[in-house]
Parts: sequence; C-alpha cells; structure tokens
Amino acid sequence: MRATLAGLLGRRPGSAARLLLAAAVSLAPIQTALAQQHGLVGLREADSAAQAAPGARPFGPIYARPPQLDNGSERAELSFALSAPVKATSFVLAAPDRIVVELPQVEFAAESADAGQAKRRHAAAASGGLVASYRFGLFAPGKSRIVIDLTAPARVLRAASVADRSGTHLIVALAKSDRAAFLAAARRDQQVAEADRPASAPLQTAAANGLPIVVVDPGHGGIDSGAMVHGLVEKNIVFAFARELADKLRASGHYKVIMTRDSDVFVALGERVKIARDAGASLFVSIHADTISDAASVSGATVYTCSEHASDAEAARTAEKENQADAAAGVESKDDDSGVSDILFDLTRQETRTYSHVFARTLVNYWQVAARLNKNPERSAGFRVLKAPDVPSVLIELGYLSNASDGAALTSSKWRGATTDKVARAIDAFFTAKGVLPEKAAAAAPPAGPLDPTPTAAIK
Ligand SMILES: [Zn+2]
Repeated sequence: MRATLAGLLGRRPGSAARLLLAAAVSLAPIQTALAQQHGLVGLREADSAAQAAPGARPFGPIYARPPQLDNGSERAELSFALSAPVKATSFVLAAPDRIVVELPQVEFAAESADAGQAKRRHAAAASGGLVASYRFGLFAPGKSRIVIDLTAPARVLRAASVADRSGTHLIVALAKSDRAAFLAAARRDQQVAEADRPASAPLQTAAANGLPIVVVDPGHGGIDSGAMVHGLVEKNIVFAFARELADKLRASGHYKVIMTRDSDVFVALGERVKIARDAGASLFVSIHADTISDAASVSGATVYTCSEHASDAEAARTAEKENQADAAAGVESKDDDSGVSDILFDLTRQETRTYSHVFARTLVNYWQVAARLNKNPERSAGFRVLKAPDVPSVLIELGYLSNASDGAALTSSKWRGATTDKVARAIDAFFTAKGVLPEKAAAAAPPAGPLDPTPTAAIK
C-alpha cells in the first residue's frame, strides 16, 4: 500500500479514516526525511510493524498539512488537516500576548514548518484579524506546539481535533476577550507552562582530565526557526556551522565541547545559559544569522558581547530580535538577573565581561582573514543568552540572510569550512593567551591586527 497524505486527506473526503485504519495496522514509524524530500508528506508502508522501535507510537507519526486561517477581528479559526486525531491542550501567555496549543509530536510538512511559515505570517499580519502571526513545530522530543501571536486579548473557544466527513482536523478557535480576563487566564496558566518546560538537556559535568569546556550554542531550533529569508532558514544554517565547529574543537583534543542542542529542537534561552553555567564552561559561543529588511546591501559577520546599554541602534535591534526566541516558542521569559549585590560577584562579572571582549576582538581578527566582516564588527547589547555572570560569552551573527552574497556564503560548505577553522583558531589563541593551553596550541600565527593577550589592555 502506498498513498500520499494529500490523497488521504484532501482528494477523497470521507475515505481518509477508513484508509488510515487499514494502514495503521501495518504502519511503523515513517521516514520523515523521505517525506520531507518531496515537500508533501507521504505515507510509506513499513516492512513490518515488529520493526518499530521500542516505545514508538503504535500507529506511527501523525502528520499535519499546512493550515487554513480564518482571521476575523472578533473570532478567528486555525484549522490543520491531520492524519489521525490528537489530544490538544492550550494556555495563554501575556507580554507579548500569545495562545499556545500543545500537542503530541506532529510531523508538519517541510514547507509548512520553514519558509512557508513566513508567507503565512505576512498574510495573517495583513488581514487585520485577531491573529497577528503564528508558527508551529517541534518544541521538545515527543511534543509539538502551535504558538499564536495576538493583536488583541483573546480566549480559546476550542482547541481539539474533530473528525467529520472531510477527515480529521485540528481546530483552534479564538474569540476576542477583554484585557482583565486575559491577564487572569495568563496568571492561571502560568504554572502549567512552568511545569511543561522542557527538562534540562542531559549534562556532562566538568571533565576530570581538566580540559577547558567550550559550549557551542546553535541558535533557535524546533518551533523557533529564527530568521527566514528567500528560503534560507537560520536554525538550519547555524546548526550546520555549530556542528562543524564543535567537531573541529573536539578533534583538536584541547577541549571538552558541549552543544546546547544536537538536533532540531527548541531550547529556551535561559536553559542555554544554565547548560554553560552548570557545566562550569570556560567559553560560550552562540551562533546566529541576521537579517535586515530594506537594507539588502548590509552584509558581513558581527561579534556581539553582552552589555546593559547597546553599543548602537543596530545592536539593540538585533538583541531584541534574538531575545524573542522564547516568545516564539510560547515560553515565559524571565531575566535571570538575580540582582546580587556582592563585591566578589561583581568582580567575577567584570572579569567575565573583560574576557568576553578579549575573545570577541580575537575572533574578529581571525575571521577577517577568511571572510567578510560587518562595517562595525564588534558590538554589544543585552542578549539574554550572553547573561551568564561567570562564563565569557559571545554571539556571532555569521552574516545577513537578507544579503545575496552572504546568503550564498552561509550555505556554502567551502565558506563554512574556512570560517569554522578561524573560529577554532581564535578559541585556541584565547586559551593560549590565558595560559590554559601551551603555546603550540595556537600554532598558526595570529593574523594581522591588534591581538593583545592582556585582558585589561583590550578594554578601553
Ligand atoms: Zn538568531
């Protein structure tokens, strides 16, 4: 038996349930990669249900087609065609106002999960209804989410899957409400959201052999795609870069390397900071790619450090955008500024910032040999992911997806090979200057430019 989801769901109304029942008996987990190659999800009969992995869902993955949105100013309804019914729960979050629908893991068609979402987002924004934008995707292993950004306070009339003659649909129906009712619901739901936060990634603690720990942080993931321009998707680009960098660092034998995510899954910003702090990391490198509307000529890499006051308006804009990652996934963001006022703590934070600046400078010097830098390549702003008070941290915006030549570079394996080399060299130089690595570790001569190993000298 071989059938497409389109066939099951769309073209033969009424037959979907029967076909699925017949198919379900013999369906084992289906190869999503194969399905994604074709853009539209396909069902493939497995050799034998007995080959299903232990713990796999008995009927294989549940698929969803791109949704329909009916977006009115008083009522709105989002509807996904599904291959099987799912159990849905919902809650609301304030500031920004959102509705979050939680589902078991649902395979959204590839087009719908990435670039297609951008198109739909624009369409929703233009329609002037209750829904400002929405996104959907994997939140944590086994869990998917739909996150709806609202233009006005709203309540959920219904979030459930329904089966009728046209097949099975997940319906999310909203109605406008008032601010007081919305805030009351948000307060009530907050505890639910807290309890459902994904558990910490399994952590390896500091290596017994005393190698410095470097945390490589690929931005975004899962339901949070990051920037999406011309079919380029930030979360995928930065993941490929991060994985190659991590491999090179591991291969050097100089470091213990931890990645904050090693698959396409959502990790909250605070969780990324916690991973680095809990591990006792000596360096945290976050990888992102930027985009800027109406300025397609802006290009090149920028290295950011954390500061309370942004170095310039562009840095403030970038930090604000990157800090929305939690909101995009329907997670309540909290600043972890504990407000500790302690001299030792302040000294630690000051030293951390100093080393962050030193590494940023080192990185810029190495990067410029291999690839293009932004006109103003060292900047600072209040990035949440850089807020560990005791782990030197930088965030690299690899380039601008909105710029044609940056977009071509960022998706080229040659460019990625050259730039990950330079980042690895910069990390060697940083730890050599700190006296952690022997001189020969940074075997390649530092490139031209000021590369002062003395932290205080690098700071004005
Ligand atoms: Zn980003």
